Amino acid sequence: MTEPVVRLASGASGASGELGALGALGQDPPLPAFAAPGRAAPSLRGKVDWQDATVVSVRPEGARAVTVRLALPVWHAHVPGQHYMLRLTAADGYTAQRHYSVASPPDDTGHIELTVDRVEGGGEVSGHLHDVARPGDTMAVRGPLGGFFAWPGDRPVLLIGGGSGMVPLMAMIRHRRRRGLAVPMRVVACARTPEDLVYAAELAPLAGERHTILYSRSAPEGYPHPVGRLTAASLAPDAAEALAGDYEVFVCGSTGFAEHAGRLLTAAGVPTSRIRVERFG
Ligand SMILES: Cc1cc2nc3c(=O)[nH]c(=O)nc-3n(C[C@H](O)[C@H](O)[C@H](O)COP(=O)(O)OP(=O)(O)OC[C@H]3O[C@@H](n4cnc5c(N)ncnc54)[C@H](O)[C@@H]3O)c2cc1C
Repeated sequence: MTEPVVRLASGASGASGELGALGALGQDPPLPAFAAPGRAAPSLRGKVDWQDATVVSVRPEGARAVTVRLALPVWHAHVPGQHYMLRLTAADGYTAQRHYSVASPPDDTGHIELTVDRVEGGGEVSGHLHDVARPGDTMAVRGPLGGFFAWPGDRPVLLIGGGSGMVPLMAMIRHRRRRGLAVPMRVVACARTPEDLVYAAELAPLAGERHTILYSRSAPEGYPHPVGRLTAASLAPDAAEALAGDYEVFVCGSTGFAEHAGRLLTAAGVPTSRIRVERFG
């Protein structure tokens, strides 16, 4: 398959240029500027147009999700945590569009990766991405979007993800590693079972990171944490560190998961001004 000619565009300024003029693939692009370091960024909504992305690959991610790699004709540097709108159009003109967080770091020039959960009962868009999408297909995307749930890598961070809520958090983990950032990072990854856990191979701490993996339904032999819903006790060490170390806390998952985790954090004393929540519900 021939990939489309890639043009780079800065998500913040909208300036664009030919890839060749800016350097080789893999060179770290500048991220869109934030209004104030670590605080709410300007929303990029409205500054980006719909474009036809080409599916490069579809690969399994754990037992319930797939990662779809897309090549974009116009590539915008995203801030880890941002998402895209994806639109499918049927032969009769019917359209369906959904939001999907970017899993890849902003240095994957020309491409984005989306990790999509299989929805019980059959989701319209997720079902297509799981069962129908093939390399070479095109689909309309618009982004990157959203400015609040985004981390440019500027301050210590605690990431708490449930299921596919790990997707935008993985972009943050990959960004920190790709750029060699020294800023501390703690990760709490929650999944129903070890088979369901997304990005399992990457969820092992590197220098400056602490990872905790929690299972709600079943766990491997010798697993050190209680199996079940996220509790104040299992979150306590990370919440205490977040409080002491002036961490920004990002929580992402289903509405139920995100609200539960948010309540545990505030009960542990973490100020709401330091907690950012993205709900996939
Ligand atoms: C900012 C943001 C980022 C997101 N990022 C991700 C991500 O990275 N990964 C990810 O997997 N998801 C993500 N989501 C969720 C995603 O946008 C979709 O909501 C999800 O994929 C389901 O869409 P769908 O079209 O497949 O399901 P839908 O067709 O919308 O169905 C959703 C649910 O409704 C039920 N349903 C559908 N039709 C009916 C009906 N007629 N009667 C009763 N029930 C029905 C389905 O069984 C299913 O349980 C994100 C959401 C937001 C808001």
